[in-house]
Amino acid sequence: MKKLIIISLLFATTSLFAQKINLQKVEPPNWFVGMENTHLQLLVYGKNISKTDVVINSEKAELKVVSKVQNPNYLFLDIDISKDAKPGNFNILFKLKGKTKAKYSYQLSEKPKRKRGFSQSDFIYLLMPDRFANGNPDNDSADGLLEKINRSNPDGRHGGDIQGVINHLDYIQNIGVTALWLNPVLENNNPSYSYHGYAITDFYKTDPRIGTDEGYKQLSDELHKRKMKLIEDMIFNHCSENHWWMKDLPTDNWVNTNKDFHTNYRGSTITDPHASQSDYKKMTEGWFVSSMPDLNQHNPFLANYLIQNSIWRILTYDLDGIRMDTYPYPFKDFMSEWAQRLHAEFPDITLLGETWLHKVPYTAYFQANSPISGNYNSHLDCITDFSLYYATKAAFNEKEGWEEGLLRIYNIFAQDFLYANPENIVIFLDNHDLDRYFSDVGEDMNKFKMGICVLLTARGIPVLFYGDEILKTGFEYQGHGHIRTDFPGGWKTDKKNAFTKEGRTEKQNEAFNFIKKIADFRKTSKALTEGKLLQFIPENNTYVYFRYTDNEAVMIMLNNNDTESRTISWSRFSEILKNYNTGKNIISGKKYEKLDKITINKKSAIIIKLKK
Ligand code: CA
Repeated sequence: MKKLIIISLLFATTSLFAQKINLQKVEPPNWFVGMENTHLQLLVYGKNISKTDVVINSEKAELKVVSKVQNPNYLFLDIDISKDAKPGNFNILFKLKGKTKAKYSYQLSEKPKRKRGFSQSDFIYLLMPDRFANGNPDNDSADGLLEKINRSNPDGRHGGDIQGVINHLDYIQNIGVTALWLNPVLENNNPSYSYHGYAITDFYKTDPRIGTDEGYKQLSDELHKRKMKLIEDMIFNHCSENHWWMKDLPTDNWVNTNKDFHTNYRGSTITDPHASQSDYKKMTEGWFVSSMPDLNQHNPFLANYLIQNSIWRILTYDLDGIRMDTYPYPFKDFMSEWAQRLHAEFPDITLLGETWLHKVPYTAYFQANSPISGNYNSHLDCITDFSLYYATKAAFNEKEGWEEGLLRIYNIFAQDFLYANPENIVIFLDNHDLDRYFSDVGEDMNKFKMGICVLLTARGIPVLFYGDEILKTGFEYQGHGHIRTDFPGGWKTDKKNAFTKEGRTEKQNEAFNFIKKIADFRKTSKALTEGKLLQFIPENNTYVYFRYTDNEAVMIMLNNNDTESRTISWSRFSEILKNYNTGKNIISGKKYEKLDKITINKKSAIIIKLKK
């Protein structure tokens, strides 16, 4: 009997020790007053935190629900922020038998006023922060972060950072771009291949090798001073296997399936009326790769966590847009809720989804108010035009055929009836996952320029991948490191500095100036940034299309012939040209006093601003 008492006493002491409370995380770490939606759900993490009683005694906030989940180290707190709450802090107390064991001072700030998104009037520059410029060699490696700098490894960390971007904003702006999209800047604490940023280990922390949270906000402020915009790259489909919660998951359904069950990468299964359930499950619940767990956005706590993370990031970093990676892979009902809740809070923000799908209808389905998505509405503003990408990749390398050559581009635009809003599509010649465009066209400057002409005059929002303006080369099959090489001049030891005119070759300056000339014109042209598109079927290896408003028009002509110039009579285009008397080539400056016929050189493009 005595023995039994001793044992149970021992047991009681042990369980008291077991209830040691160690508060580690409250996320979102702070929030805002003046929000449209006054509901806030906090994730609280800490050893045995669910054993505590949570108390909030404040006029600012009311604790509505405390939710426990499978793992006793988590709590989810549903809080209502008072409509009248003023900025300031309130305490969240975690008590055990009446005694406060942990306390978190929760800060509420005024919701910043913001009214911006990006649109067709913008020209976006995409850059990979690790590969652009090293503005701070002291942060190349950091204590506690697994992967250290190794610039000789194409897949290693090279030391580029946010300070490097800030240092070269004059250069970036001088290209004629108006918005910046950085590959992800959040912490990627992975042992190798961590530079690209798509395997996040903390949704609330800038990777210290890329910069600080303050530095990221400084970049945002510097861009806004220049009337430029910041687009943040996010990933809700997956996180890294090294994300902090992977060691101690809140619930067993926080992530889907397991690391051996991979996605089939077939976005068609989302829209296919005949898709099998097993294919659909593989697409949406399979892991992107074994090191990136597939997040289950059907867990309501995780869904809230991700949506609030977006809201927090928009407000904290004054973002103008979000580019969502691997958009078709997360559950589409969740992605729709995400877009709706963000738009309810920020009507002007632009949400872009990466829809890497090879056919127009697959892509069009995912745009808000799609005419072909049945009862489903994604509420997503903007999608990526991979169809036009594949067309411009091939067109200038081909002879004309019923579907080949310039017909490829014509046929993409001819399918715009499938889109709810064909102007709100991001267009590009390449990006961080694709062959460099200059390599695609066999390093042929004429073909390169034709591609640039289409990029900057087609409907949609153009994106330039960093370094295309200096004719960077590389094929994806060589490895991603080869299409994401360092920008020359971004590192102190670099022998060449392509940030300056003097540091670029003659050919690089030719490419840079060509892009800049059209981009600068584009900024001033309502026809190119707001106008409609009128196209004429390609004939004889030449293709003519117009962008126009009621008051102005721009004529774009492409001759895809390898050997001969073409003379085109303008009578075919009289339905629009009847409104105009003269024209000016915006690249060469040549004036056309009479609009009757024009000769266009082999393998070239002309852009003519028409005048009444
Ligand atoms: Ca650095």
